[in-house]
Amino acid sequence: MNKKQIAQERAVQLKERIQDYLDVKDTMPKGMDPAQQEKAEEKKRKILDHLQGTESDWNDYKWQLKNRISDVETLRQLTALDDAEIEAVRKVGEKFRWSVSPYYLSLIDDDNRLDPIKLQSIPLLAELNEDGLADPMAEEYTNPAGSITRRYPDRVIINVTNQCAMYCRHCQRRRNIGSSDRHTARKQLQESIEYIRSNPEIRDVLITGGDALLLSDAALDWLLGELHAIESVEFIRLGSRVLATMPQRITDNLVRILKKYPPLYVNTQFNHPKELTREAKEACDKLVDAGIPLGNQAVLLNGINNDKYVMRLLNQELLKFRVRPYYIFHAKQVIGTLHFRTSIDDGIEIMEYLRGYTSGMAIPTYIINAPKGHGKTPVMPEYVVSRGRDHVKIRTWEGRVFDVRNFPTRNIRDFL
Ligand code: SF4
Repeated sequence: MNKKQIAQERAVQLKERIQDYLDVKDTMPKGMDPAQQEKAEEKKRKILDHLQGTESDWNDYKWQLKNRISDVETLRQLTALDDAEIEAVRKVGEKFRWSVSPYYLSLIDDDNRLDPIKLQSIPLLAELNEDGLADPMAEEYTNPAGSITRRYPDRVIINVTNQCAMYCRHCQRRRNIGSSDRHTARKQLQESIEYIRSNPEIRDVLITGGDALLLSDAALDWLLGELHAIESVEFIRLGSRVLATMPQRITDNLVRILKKYPPLYVNTQFNHPKELTREAKEACDKLVDAGIPLGNQAVLLNGINNDKYVMRLLNQELLKFRVRPYYIFHAKQVIGTLHFRTSIDDGIEIMEYLRGYTSGMAIPTYIINAPKGHGKTPVMPEYVVSRGRDHVKIRTWEGRVFDVRNFPTRNIRDFL
């Protein structure tokens, strides 16, 4: 065989490697599919009629926020939940708050009892299972001042609100959600800023909640301005799920404010390709066009995305939205979320079906949070079989084992 024939044979083999994915890719629902968009549009009309809203109301995040659906009767009228499901919502609601933005509700497919949007937004009776802890990361013991969480040497979190566009049923911080919306008091934020100012080793600040982008434009402008003015703060991150749950929040005025404080990163949470809608794309485009890089932190969720094909599609679609897949979090042992937990094997299998099978840029890091706040720990499939002084034996994504020569790092000065 000549070189060309070898390459052609290899190309056929490579295509075969992903044939199983190509066979199912177009059968998986995603937000940009015309059929999905049509269904969502129909549902949106129904919701607008019921709430007596207009198209311009729909595009106004304040209207979306004010009209979050949080009562059982409205939910019954706007979805196809049966009596048992409605009763479950009622019962769970006595213990855990629930609320869904009209936008997110419009994405539920009423013909699918296990629709991933529905599972993430509508309570199931399983939430009443007592297994798990309220605070498995012991965050309460990592609050040195104000509303700061400090678990690492050079970076901190500021918690600014407990409000969200919707209360995700898998929320890993559900203990903060409480029973009413509450922004952190200005005094506590000032204390947090002061702490950061007086600890110059802190170079990276993550503003989160709840949802950081549910602060008002004026409050965000003030807080970002204060942090940006601290010389030792090298960059700021915002944690927000509004791109998935209420993309209307990304207004021109908000973008104008965020643009003033580079380098600023937004980390969001898309968990399923169905969340990647036309509206979400417009919101992502606004931020990226303003020079704000976007990263995705998915949570590995049973029945939603613990599937090697769904996760591959999600990560590939994210890149089309200019959102870089960053983390897949293994779900923590949070009370009320037992049904969403998966085995670590699911995560490892997903990672094995990403590496090599798709672009490196579409591959996030699979993370387990070590207990009691001991930090994010990557879980990698074992690619390094053994290591010697001069050779490393590696296993490729196809399971082939190779010896690779290993060279000790030399001082750069040796080359001068
Ligand atoms: S947006 Fe984030 S903090 Fe808010 S409920 Fe959902 S997962 Fe929890």
